[in-house]
Amino acid sequence: MHLPYGRKRWIVARYANIIVDISMEKLDKTFQYRIPEELKDALTVGMQVVVPFGNGTRTLTGYVVELTDTCEFDPSRMKEIQKIAEKGIPLEGQLISLAQWMRLTYGATMNQALKTVLPVRKKVQEKTRKKLVRTISLEQAKDYLEMFERKHQTARLRLLTALMDTPEVDCRLVSEQLHLTASTVKKLEEMGILKVETATLLRNPVRTYELEPHSFDLTVRQQEIVDDIRRRTRAGDRRPSLIYGITGSGKTAIYLELIENVLEQGKDAIVLIPEIALTFQTALRFYKRFGDRVSIINSRLSQGERYDQFERAKRGEVRVMIGPRSALFTPFQNLGIIVIDEEHEASYKSETAPRYHARETAIERARMTDAFVVLGSATPSVESYENANNGTYCLYRLEQRIFGQSLPAAEVVDLRQELKAGNRSILSRRLRELMEDRLNKRQQMMLFLNRRGYAGFVSCRACGHVLKCPHCDVSLSLHTGGRMVCHYCGYEEQAKKECPSCGSPYIGAFRAGTQQVAEIVQREFPKARVLRMDMDTTKNKDGHEKILEAFSEGRADILVGTQMIVKGHDFPAVTLVGVLAADLSLYTNDYRASERTFQLLTQAAGRAGRGREEGIAVIQTYSPEHYSIEAAAAQDYDMFFQKELAYRQLMEYPPASYLLAIYLSGKEKEKLEEGAGKLKEMLFAKIGSRKVQIIGPADAYVAKVNDIYRKLVYLKGRKTEQLIELKEQIEFFWQENMELQQLNIQFDMNPMNGF
Ligand code: ADP
Ligand code: ZN
Ligand code: ZN
Repeated sequence: MHLPYGRKRWIVARYANIIVDISMEKLDKTFQYRIPEELKDALTVGMQVVVPFGNGTRTLTGYVVELTDTCEFDPSRMKEIQKIAEKGIPLEGQLISLAQWMRLTYGATMNQALKTVLPVRKKVQEKTRKKLVRTISLEQAKDYLEMFERKHQTARLRLLTALMDTPEVDCRLVSEQLHLTASTVKKLEEMGILKVETATLLRNPVRTYELEPHSFDLTVRQQEIVDDIRRRTRAGDRRPSLIYGITGSGKTAIYLELIENVLEQGKDAIVLIPEIALTFQTALRFYKRFGDRVSIINSRLSQGERYDQFERAKRGEVRVMIGPRSALFTPFQNLGIIVIDEEHEASYKSETAPRYHARETAIERARMTDAFVVLGSATPSVESYENANNGTYCLYRLEQRIFGQSLPAAEVVDLRQELKAGNRSILSRRLRELMEDRLNKRQQMMLFLNRRGYAGFVSCRACGHVLKCPHCDVSLSLHTGGRMVCHYCGYEEQAKKECPSCGSPYIGAFRAGTQQVAEIVQREFPKARVLRMDMDTTKNKDGHEKILEAFSEGRADILVGTQMIVKGHDFPAVTLVGVLAADLSLYTNDYRASERTFQLLTQAAGRAGRGREEGIAVIQTYSPEHYSIEAAAAQDYDMFFQKELAYRQLMEYPPASYLLAIYLSGKEKEKLEEGAGKLKEMLFAKIGSRKVQIIGPADAYVAKVNDIYRKLVYLKGRKTEQLIELKEQIEFFWQENMELQQLNIQFDMNPMNGF
């Protein structure tokens, strides 16, 4: 069976799957209808059609969700579509065809795709919610601010600062974005600074505020960028714009200006910001500029609350929707712009089917609705920067910080030299010296363990050599029984006792956890107050907030943590950031390891010196000569990009090539192996003249979870269409083969998060 990709396929379709009610509960239920001859050319996914329903003469309108040649119903009893309900595609229809595009591009069932894009309809109860209202004048508040600042009462300072900007705020916003606890609120209440009021739920977290006109003019460079983007979009150039500029260079100010233009034209705006980076200050800037027309959603909203916000957007009450990935599906009738801030963030890739990337999906949605896309980042993804270089995107650079602050200095410490000098501690001599200095000066510091997932790589502590797959150039992972395995191609070898490069016996898996580090630090600096932030300590509700609050209030000197400490929050009193082992993210077993390391190190270094004192970042590593470490220390994105692109081209990884991961899992090991074998056979037969490489099957890093075995196969090819065609054939093959159906199959196009 041949299923060509693209329009052709739909023309031959004889049947249409239709949903008659797009509320969540009934999405599962699609009905199949025959397409009458006269509609065969006109019908597309997303259209509203009139269909006979039930036994009598009743008709209903429904949406076409799929056109197919596969008859799923007794053809002799199948009814025909009566007519197309109205010309054009209604809003829901647009989202349905976006779902269709996602299903095709990323692999999923149509139902999974629909559930991702369509809002849930559920009865929402009126809720009461608390808000904080400032009860003193601005003048008085200023006196208090000074006092809090003098006494280093930073939590109170933050709360009152928020209340300076706007006389009342929602309690939820306070806890979620200012990371404050009830005790701080209570103190201010006791001091007569604020009162707590209960109001029936305002659907918007901030209500009254004085709308501020622009408090500043854009710089010449900012204005140039705004003008050029406007000129291009007016001229019909819909290429996405990529604004590349370090934090503080004025990107957000540009978004605000562009959004204002769009609103003036009667169109709406979607702004994606990774949840972890969406701070109160950022939220407030949007509120102040656009007032009630702004709504913010986050993953903690209930389905009902989210639906409610989406309904408001549909009615035109909300014109600017801000949120993480899923805000992309806000049902705006007249979408004008989609902004994606920190476009390189891995959280823009969904971890469940359809495993869509919000950037690519935004570009598709914009294309369908005639909106334009603006991306921004201080460390653009290799994909986007390459697209900017080859003219698919339009690149705009912001070279300087608005207030001209200098970047923190970064120093690289070679851990191999430490070993040579007899220092086997996780703290290098240089880092320890700086820590002592900061403790004496009563300044704060962060120690960062950029551990991600499972760092099972094997390296030599004497020379830094890392054991890699000879075929894929990614690190081998140490498995039980001393096997070292490549998770792309399945290559394996026995673990070594000596370094193959220098003969040293100091070779082994690199293991260090935050708990261990915190203990070591405490032992070496008994007087220091050490806080730890990682998955363990933030498991409980509010765990995250409590730790951040304690640290920002100065109740600890040293914060030890995983990457969650380097994103989002500002700690002006931090003047030292130590990256304990840059190698941890550098040698994870996937092709994005260097890119992620560069991004993390750049971010971590940016944490030092946000305040008045000069900051310094110390990067400890066994691979000081690695380009992503050199480039991060020098804050040189272009150098990183050139080297990284050369590597991707050499190894044919995205963006030089496309990579489709196929995840297989099943209860029985033999069945899984058999299935993986069959898949490979089938692929060999179907590849034909396509230039597509099959890699694997290999065990997943976690080869068994809850008694379910897991395997991976990768397809690599220059053309995304070819991979999608093969994916369609695999899905069909899976449906046709009864014995394969006991195995779960999932697809991941250009994977980011692993399996
Ligand atoms: P980014 O989004 O790149 O981090 P922002 O737009 O947040 O940068 O700008 C950083 C800071 O500079 C913010 O406090 C912002 O209010 C301020 N700012 C931005 N543009 C200007 C300008 N043209 N004049 C004065 N201040 C500005
Ligand atoms: Zn060695
Ligand atoms: Zn390999």
